[in-house]
Amino acid sequence: MRVVICLPFLGASDRYITPGSTLDKCADCGAGIFVAPSSRESPGDNVYVCMDCAARRLRDDPDPKFEVVEGAGRELLDWHRRN
Ligand SMILES: [Zn+2]
Repeated sequence: MRVVICLPFLGASDRYITPGSTLDKCADCGAGIFVAPSSRESPGDNVYVCMDCAARRLRDDPDPKFEVVEGAGRELLDWHRRN
């Protein structure tokens, strides 16, 4: 299972929304979240959570594993060029 940290809908600044993102609900709390295209297209068993719930999960996991999914690095560089 891969935990994907997503930008919450409430309070989100347009500046940080990856173009092509789609709306979904946090798997833990049900809050609205934006799921970036690279995250949506990433194969495997993905669980999309908001940043608050991601922080809660990290608190409970003393040795979290992070990875950059394919396409996310390109999205980040595209965003950085525009901002
Ligand atoms: Zn949540």
